[in-house]
Amino acid sequence: ENILEVKDLHYTYTDGTHALKGVTLDIKQGMTTAVLGGNGAGKSTLFLSLNGTLKPTAGKVLFKGLQLDYSRKGLRDLRKSVGIVFQDPDSQLFSASVLQDISFGPINMKLPEEEVRKRVNAAMDRIGISHLKDKPTHCLSFGQKKRVAIAGVLAMEPEVLVLDEPTAGLDPMGVSEIMKLLRKIQKDLGLSVVISTHDIDIVPLYCDYAYVMDQGRIVLEGTPKEVFAHR
Ligand code: ADP
Ligand code: ADP
Repeated sequence: ENILEVKDLHYTYTDGTHALKGVTLDIKQGMTTAVLGGNGAGKSTLFLSLNGTLKPTAGKVLFKGLQLDYSRKGLRDLRKSVGIVFQDPDSQLFSASVLQDISFGPINMKLPEEEVRKRVNAAMDRIGISHLKDKPTHCLSFGQKKRVAIAGVLAMEPEVLVLDEPTAGLDPMGVSEIMKLLRKIQKDLGLSVVISTHDIDIVPLYCDYAYVMDQGRIVLEGTPKEVFAHR
């Protein structure tokens, strides 16, 4: 039931920054796992390690029990299964329209046109942005852009959806809307969801399990109840 396992992961950037110092964690199938921690704790580095973008300096990452394959083909396959939504939607959106943006991933996967259309429509529908499909992404609100970025990753039909700070920059209404939406998608699709956040309020409401990171290490883990009992 672990879809991803991280074992004693170390990552050192080329400038010598030791961003991950022996991180061990499990991502359970069909659950929402939160990774909490302040700026610089190592959350982004961890997430980029989950889909093979960063290759560990030491330790390992397993997807469905198998160690990640860092060959070109291995990485291409992995990125279909583990989709990442970055914190800043502008870094992820670059096509002329919402429809084109969401189609980018499935087209890149070389799926037949009909399948692309089906997936894109399903993703827009699920995220509630079908009415925006012909809009240029640059004229959307920040919250709408976030949704487009999520739909674009969903259209690739990943098994794990990893979101870096999905609630950052949203007002309280936007936060609860996006978290409820993610929860619904997780349940409907049996998706495994991983989010990073520094917003502790959302954890007991929308997450099943939490890891707290500090300076490249996991310093606390448990159900939201267990984790917050320590505060
Ligand atoms: P113990 O080791 O005491 O048996 P665990 O820490 O394995 O307990 O699990 C406690 C509860 O948290 C269980 O319900 C388990 O399914 C759940 N759990 C453990 N790890 C995770 C995780 N990474 N994601 C979601 N739920 C988890
Ligand atoms: P978080 O996402 O929790 O803010 P990061 O993973 O971005 O943490 O950063 C962890 C540490 O790695 C920080 O000290 C950060 O400055 C450093 N770091 C992040 N990206 C790079 C990079 N490209 N080169 C060098 N150091 C980096």
